[in-house]
Amino acid sequence: MSFAIEVSNLSKIYDNGFNALDNINFSVNKGEIFALLGPNGAGKSTLINIICGITKKNSGLVNIFNFDNIKDYKAARSLIGLVPQEIATDSFEKVINALKFSRGLFNKPKNNAYLERILTDFALFDKKEDQIRTLSGGMKRRLLIAKALSHEPKILFLDEPTAGVDVELRKTLWKNLNNLKKKGITIFLTTHYIEEAEKLADRVAIIDKGKITLIDSKKKLMSKFGKKKIIVKLTKPIHHIPEKLSKYNLVKNSTGKQLIYSFSSENFIDVLLSDINKIGLRYEDLEVRQKNLEEIFIDLVKK
Ligand code: ADP
Ligand code: MG
Repeated sequence: MSFAIEVSNLSKIYDNGFNALDNINFSVNKGEIFALLGPNGAGKSTLINIICGITKKNSGLVNIFNFDNIKDYKAARSLIGLVPQEIATDSFEKVINALKFSRGLFNKPKNNAYLERILTDFALFDKKEDQIRTLSGGMKRRLLIAKALSHEPKILFLDEPTAGVDVELRKTLWKNLNNLKKKGITIFLTTHYIEEAEKLADRVAIIDKGKITLIDSKKKLMSKFGKKKIIVKLTKPIHHIPEKLSKYNLVKNSTGKQLIYSFSSENFIDVLLSDINKIGLRYEDLEVRQKNLEEIFIDLVKK
């Protein structure tokens, strides 16, 4: 099987000697949403810029749909749309012209119907004759994505697409990205928002200090590390966990009215509840929760 992106033995040392990426290996499947998750300074932008051919690597290989991103730069680049981290905001250019110009850079034949369709998809059609500088921040973000799509790339790269964006726009962008995925576009995004990776990604890689520390499907990550919890809400607070319940490794909350049980198999819940009853404790409610990716991430970092 061939991949949308293949990165092997990739390293980057900046001119000042800083080792920003250390032997990175991974691949991205065609049609998936792949999230590269990591804190500021981890190397996310360096990696995305190297894959897109903007920053030079020191060693290693990058293939885009089997095209070497250096030897076959043109072929590789034409398959890529890049939404950079920084946004330019004060252009006098008209929205539609920015898309036409972007498309022209890739020697693609004119196709205004296609460009207008993208503008419609990103709720910018009404603005197509407006100057970019007059758009709101949210519109500029969406325009950047529309621009990156103007030459019909097969992979869309987004470097922190929702950093500093309000909740509503973030949700709109997530919907836009899911729609692109439905059209068969492979999406590679970087983020430091765990929630974003959790909501969007098929697979997640965690990068820290220039190394990939973990890579897996979101589902597997969730089921491997995402133990469920049941919260037993007692009618009366307790001061300590009764000896007879010690085998469950329960955690008591600060008010003493909740007992929290983490489990990976549901088999023991009945027994736990009957043991709770047997020792005379009463509960008024039960709540089941799955750990989210943020909690999983925190657990992993603690190890
Ligand atoms: P991220 O996008 O994850 O925040 P970057 O890829 O921008 O991280 O940066 C990774 C590390 O490389 C940071 O420590 C940053 O300071 C350093 N770095 C980035 N660009 C340069 C450069 N041109 N020269 C030297 N160091 C750099
Ligand atoms: Mg960055």
